[in-house]
Amino acid sequence: MATVLDIAKRNPNAAPVAVSNAARAAGFIEKTAELTVAAGAAPGGASLVGLTRDQLKDSLAAIGVPERELKMRVAQLWHWIYFRGAKDFAEMTNMGKELRAKLSQAYTLARPQVVSEQVSKDGTRKWLIRMASTGPLDKGAEIECVYIPEVDRGTLCVSSQVGCTLTCSFCHTGTQRLVRNLTSAEIVAQLIVARDAIGDWPGATPPEGAFVPNDGGRFVSNIVFMGMGEPLYNTDNVVAAIDVMSDGEGLTLSRRRITVSTSGVVPQMERLGAEANTMLAISLHAVRDELRDELVPINRKYDIKQLLDACRAYPGLSNARRITFEYVMLKGVNDSDADARTLVQLLKGIPAKINLIPFNPWPGSKYECSDWERIERFSEIVYRAGYASPVRTPRGRDILAACGQLKSETEKLRARARMMAEQGIGAEGVYAVRDGE
Ligand code: SAH
Ligand code: SF4
Repeated sequence: MATVLDIAKRNPNAAPVAVSNAARAAGFIEKTAELTVAAGAAPGGASLVGLTRDQLKDSLAAIGVPERELKMRVAQLWHWIYFRGAKDFAEMTNMGKELRAKLSQAYTLARPQVVSEQVSKDGTRKWLIRMASTGPLDKGAEIECVYIPEVDRGTLCVSSQVGCTLTCSFCHTGTQRLVRNLTSAEIVAQLIVARDAIGDWPGATPPEGAFVPNDGGRFVSNIVFMGMGEPLYNTDNVVAAIDVMSDGEGLTLSRRRITVSTSGVVPQMERLGAEANTMLAISLHAVRDELRDELVPINRKYDIKQLLDACRAYPGLSNARRITFEYVMLKGVNDSDADARTLVQLLKGIPAKINLIPFNPWPGSKYECSDWERIERFSEIVYRAGYASPVRTPRGRDILAACGQLKSETEKLRARARMMAEQGIGAEGVYAVRDGE
């Protein structure tokens, strides 16, 4: 077991963030924007970390690597970046000196910056990660990523967007106003950052006292797209990132150990199954359209029937590959016996698991978590109907790392900057507030 670490550590090398109205106007928009940047903050060149094979090929061609060598060079880079976790081109000893020099002139292997790391009493880790700037006025979007170690597995909860355009009434991320899609490189980079931080590369060791799985497997064995954002509003990049994460010659995550959670973007579900072939989780949360319209507003576009029809048609669905239905327990809202019975009726015929999630409150949230007896009773009804219904153990509560609590510092900072601007305090003041937090 882990030594208890209970720290909130800020990276002393992290540069302060300035926030200006211009940056706000130029760097972020309320609707999702597409970007083509690589993941790492890369002074002096773009980072190759997180890129797909095709993108690596283009990067090599751009520095004059001849066409006939491209395939071999991509394979070499792939091995160093994704299998070994190389941080410097100098390590790549099977590539000629001249090529290594060229690579380091044009590119870097920089990771996005870890602004802070928090370690929970239960070993859960949460990183605030700052992506590379996308232009002169953007200081870099910040997202959160959570690592949940257990004895026999390590799960990384990744974000697919900065914030979320959907506004589920019980979710903190949904209150974040500024949203953009993460690039596939930025999604992959979250796994690289996690492997760096917990020493999950060949020859590396975990930090002293860290809680990591001890079953002899990789420290990150599972990925869930349950951080910030709606993955199926960013399907292209999510599918590309999953390709990189599951590549057998690199990061080697099994697709069966990758779960994409969606609030119900029905038109994209088939494609996810066909192209990414991952496990699917559905944020159901209500069994009547009227209530689901309120809790998960995308239901007004794609109702429960359409959603469940899309589930029945999900490619690869079988008893061995069940869909997980997530159901957040909200006191007096969706937690009655009748709700539980309707739930099992609705799911009839769908190979399913039901995951009951105790509601995680956040400052200003208008719901309460159901009482424990109520959750047990609900779970009992579901279990008797033949469904496994594990109640998700809240992890990392002391560091606000649980489901739906992720809301980036950038956003809080911007809110603060707005407030200060209104009060006539300059942006510089933000540094002091931030560092003192
Ligand atoms: N946008 C995707 C994935 C991210 S949310 C989706 O909605 O599925 C991951 C899970 O956390 C979802 O099931 C979501 O409904 C749930 N969640 C959000 N806020 C929560 C909260 N405050 N307490 C418990 N679960 C929450
Ligand atoms: Fe977005 Fe998912 Fe939160 Fe809904 S629950 S606001 S879809 S992140």
